[in-house]
Amino acid sequence: MKILILNAGSSSQKSCLYDISRDVLPDDPPEPIWEGMIDWTHQAGIAEIQVKTVAQEVTKTVPYTDRPPVVEQMLATMWQGETQVLSTPSEIEAVGHRVVHGGRKYHDSIRITSEVKAAIAQLSELAPVHNAANLEGIEAAEAILGEQVLQVAVFDTAFHAQMPDAAAIYPGAYDWIEKGIYRYGFHGTSHQYCAERAASLLGQDLQDLRLITCHLGNGASLAAIRNGRSIDTTMGFTPLDGLMMGTRSGAVDPSILIHLMRHEGYDADKLDHLLNKQAGLLGISGVSNDMRQIMKAIDAGNNRAKLAIDIYIHRLRAYIGSMLASLGGLDGLIFTAGVGENSPLIRAAACEAFAFLGLKLDEEKNAGRPRDQLISTPDSTVKVLVIHTQEDWTIARDCWKLSRLH
Ligand code: AMP
Repeated sequence: MKILILNAGSSSQKSCLYDISRDVLPDDPPEPIWEGMIDWTHQAGIAEIQVKTVAQEVTKTVPYTDRPPVVEQMLATMWQGETQVLSTPSEIEAVGHRVVHGGRKYHDSIRITSEVKAAIAQLSELAPVHNAANLEGIEAAEAILGEQVLQVAVFDTAFHAQMPDAAAIYPGAYDWIEKGIYRYGFHGTSHQYCAERAASLLGQDLQDLRLITCHLGNGASLAAIRNGRSIDTTMGFTPLDGLMMGTRSGAVDPSILIHLMRHEGYDADKLDHLLNKQAGLLGISGVSNDMRQIMKAIDAGNNRAKLAIDIYIHRLRAYIGSMLASLGGLDGLIFTAGVGENSPLIRAAACEAFAFLGLKLDEEKNAGRPRDQLISTPDSTVKVLVIHTQEDWTIARDCWKLSRLH
C-alpha cells in the first residue's frame, strides 16, 4: 500500500511516499519511493521544489503568493512528469502528517476528522507557525485525494503526554495548569522511534530499559524513557526550553527577559526573535547555527565559536545528568539527528562526563560513521548507540496500523 507522509515546518515542507505490504510491517525501515521538499526560505515570493526518486532528482523554483498551490504542485510530481511513480493519485491509500502540537488531549496518533482539524487549529495558539502549516498540508491532501482518504495526525507532543505531573507541571501559578501552561515536550516521534529501535538492536524488551535519547539537530531535546514511556524531557511549553540549540537559547533565567523589557525596551516580538532565531550556537559564535561551520571556525582560531561549543557541551552534560536522576539509573544512551548522528566530538564530550559510571566509548566505532550501531565497549555499564532517526517511517507505521482499523 502507498502511504504519503507530509512533514510541514515553518521553513520547509518535506514529504515522502512509502510503498509497503498491506499485510506485514517490515522490521527495518524501507526507503521511500519518492521524496519531495519545498524550501520556503529560498527567496521572498519564490519557493524551491526538490523531488527525488530512485531514478531522478529534479529541482525547480516557482513564484508563489499562497502556499497550498505550491504544495499541490510538488505532490503532482508523483503522478506527472519525469519523477512519476504513480499512475493516479488515487493509489495513495493513507496520508500521515507530523503535527507539532497535540496539547494534552492527544496521547496517540489519530485519524483526522473535522473535530481533530478543529483541535489542531485551536492548538495553533501554542504553535502558531507549525500547526497552521500542518493544517495547510491536511487541506492540500484533502483537495487532491478527497475527504474519504485516511489522514492521520502524529503529534510531536504525544509521546510525552503522560509524563508524571511532577515533571510536567511548572512551579509557577497553580492556575497555569488550567490555562494549558504546561511542559508538553516535543520531538516525541523521534524519541519514541529511537527508543524502540535501540531495544530492538540490543535484543531487549523496551519495557525493561532505562534510556536517555539525545535528539541533537538544529532543534535539540533529550528524553528520559522508562518502561517505554517518556517520564521527563528537556523541552517544555514550547520547543525553546532546555538545551542550547542552533538558533534557540534553550533555558535561560526568566528574569533576563524582564530585565531586557525594563531596561532595553524589548517587547514580546523582539524577545521571541532574539531567543528563537538569534541565540544559541549562532548567537554566541556569531558564525552560524550549523555545527560544521562552528567546528571550522574553531579550527581557524575563532574564540567565540569555541565558547559556543563549550556552552553547548556543558548544557548537554548537565541535562543528561538531570534525565539520569529522573530515571534513577541508565541502561542506554542514544544519539540521533544531525549533530547526534554525525559528530563524534560532541558524542565523546557528552559521554566523558559519565565515565565515572563505567560508561566507556569505543573510540574507533565512535569515530567511524556509525548508523544504528553500538559505539560503547563490551564492558561499558551503559550501552551507547547512534540511531538514524526516522520520523517519517514512524508516521507511516502509525498510518499502516490505523488503516487496519478502518
Ligand atoms: P537536523 O535538524 O537533524 O537536520 O540537524 C541539522 C544540524 O545537524 C545542522 O545544522 C548541523 O549543525 C548538524 N550536522 C549535520 N551534519 C553534521 C556533521 N557532519 N557534523 C556535525 N554536525 C552536523
